[in-house]
Amino acid sequence: MRRDLYYCLFLFIIIIPVVSCGQSDTSFVRLRQRMVKTQIEARGITDKKVLDAVLKVERHKFVLPRHIAFAYNDSPLPIEEGQTISQPYIVAFMTEALNLKSNDKVLEIGTGSGYQAAILAEICDSVFTVEIFEKLGTRAERLFMKLGYNNIHCLIGDGYQGWPDHAPYDAIIVTCAPEKIPEPLLDQLAEGGRMVIPVGDDPVQHLVLLIKRNGRIRERNILPVRFVPMVSPDGKRY
Ligand code: SAH
Repeated sequence: MRRDLYYCLFLFIIIIPVVSCGQSDTSFVRLRQRMVKTQIEARGITDKKVLDAVLKVERHKFVLPRHIAFAYNDSPLPIEEGQTISQPYIVAFMTEALNLKSNDKVLEIGTGSGYQAAILAEICDSVFTVEIFEKLGTRAERLFMKLGYNNIHCLIGDGYQGWPDHAPYDAIIVTCAPEKIPEPLLDQLAEGGRMVIPVGDDPVQHLVLLIKRNGRIRERNILPVRFVPMVSPDGKRY
């Protein structure tokens, strides 16, 4: 009986943690270094704040357990509710396009896995993120708490409406694609503020960069992209 007890303790304390860790932290660090070099710097991202954030944030903690081995691959990955975590390069590209400063307040529409929000939180004072699927929003919020991101604030709701309570925002990043730019988001952008948003029908949309100066909006297309659609609470696409 005693022996069985020792055996169980041995299993729980030694064997299970070792097996479930699988890959060591240092091998993930190496994978991130390679990802930054070959996928992100190689494609022209130079903003040191962005590169440092991507090097630091542990993408493997934001993907589904069965996808951990692919966490640093050059591709988006499926998450729950039929949604996706974006390709690392696209996350870096959109973040660089926002030209962030450390005291910026940022709004993200489409929390998803929480990975993009974590990247923003490494660079900026405060991040406000809105997710329409309760399951995804709650899961991401729990992960932010576990990883110590006290500067990320979560809301479950319809991101088409933005998050007016905390507006205006120095930067807005939208990670789901509406067919037209939502008016409430333009209203919530601060003077001098920047917004990146994928716009258009499936399958290919344009990533649009908007800048608000003297109350006027200037916009230009910066990259062809492919994002999941922005949907309304009754499931229709915007
Ligand atoms: N930024 C995410 C990408 C998630 S994919 C990440 O780093 O993982 C886009 C997300 O937008 C999905 O989670 C989807 O559920 C969400 N979404 C779609 N329509 C939305 C809406 N109207 N308001 C808020 N989130 C929405």
